[in-house]
Amino acid sequence: MEHYKIAAIPGDGIGTEVISAGVEVLEFMAKQGKQFSIAVETFPWGADYYLQHGQMMPDDGREMLKPFDAIYFGSAGDPRIPDHITLWQLRLNICQGFEQYANVRPSRVLPGVKSPLANIGPGDFDWVIVRENSEGEYAGIGGRAHRDFSEEVAMDVSVFTRSGVERIQRFALELARSRPRKKLTLVTKSNAQRHGMVMWDDTFARVKEDYPDVETDKMLVDAMTTRMVLDPASLDVIVATNLHADVLSDLAAALSGSLGIAATANLRPEGDFPSMFEPIHGSAFDIMGKGIANPIGSFWSASMMLEHLGEQAAADQLMAAIEKVTAAGETMPADLGGSATTREVTEAVINALDY
Ligand code: NAD
Ligand code: MN
Repeated sequence: MEHYKIAAIPGDGIGTEVISAGVEVLEFMAKQGKQFSIAVETFPWGADYYLQHGQMMPDDGREMLKPFDAIYFGSAGDPRIPDHITLWQLRLNICQGFEQYANVRPSRVLPGVKSPLANIGPGDFDWVIVRENSEGEYAGIGGRAHRDFSEEVAMDVSVFTRSGVERIQRFALELARSRPRKKLTLVTKSNAQRHGMVMWDDTFARVKEDYPDVETDKMLVDAMTTRMVLDPASLDVIVATNLHADVLSDLAAALSGSLGIAATANLRPEGDFPSMFEPIHGSAFDIMGKGIANPIGSFWSASMMLEHLGEQAAADQLMAAIEKVTAAGETMPADLGGSATTREVTEAVINALDY
């Protein structure tokens, strides 16, 4: 039986609520299913740690995470600290420090869940957005000068490397190839941003030649928002830059019913560093501490983590349990139109696990 060491970083706000729910489900599955065993170590990094130590995680934090098989992450963000500090010092520190360059975001309408789009129901779209996760608009290059004077200037420089663009496009092409429809849509903004985005287009024209079995097309990011709303069934796998895919995947999450469902994997495909799994949503200041956060995004992330660890059967089992609960519709959290608490949804999913 395989044994996995999982580092849990619940972080801030509802991150702590949904990660403890997810850990409970994973531990139940290990105990009940006897397919694998896990040991979860929790790292109390985030806003409280920052207020005590002046940083979101310790200097040697990544060294501490290295021996783990996977990282299970909640959210970074707290009303007491500016968002760019919490994000950069914790989540981006880990993603970029471990070069987790492929951010994978599946979305579909789960059974029993209502999309805000009229005429869209379960099965009508099944997307995976692949987000470049190591450079681009979030490379952190830039600065501010003449601070506090009227001539103040601020610059954010997007960094696109040929190797970075090529590896994410190949990753997306491979993923598209592995799925039944074998379709990939490249998203850029190469009409307006005529350097990096045009290099994305040029690189894509070259690398897609190696995947003649994958059907490809291209969209500008603004037009893509329209297509996602008006013709969702036409899309399968989507690849885009760090910023564009960030925005598109929040839209995808909303179209699939709620941000509270959506999950994501920050993958280091080479496996020399751990990959990280997290719900897409943030700390949700408006509902934190109330015990009503939807834990499904966290459970779906746990399923992606199991799949990454090679436990496909357990991953499928967890998704099946989630879908059984949403299909039944009796234990829906508030964001899906019900009144069930985090605890109730967690228990319902545990009870729905088929052993
Ligand atoms: P958010 O995702 O925290 O919340 C947006 C809205 O969606 C809120 O109304 C919230 O109540 C609702 N929502 C989100 N998740 C939900 C869930 N599981 N169940 C029910 N409702 C849910 O986004 P925001 O308000 O833009 O950001 C709040 C904080 O979180 C900020 O500090 C931001 O920087 C941070 N954040 C962190 C991450 C991350 O660490 N990955 C991602 C996004 C935002
Ligand atoms: Mn986002």
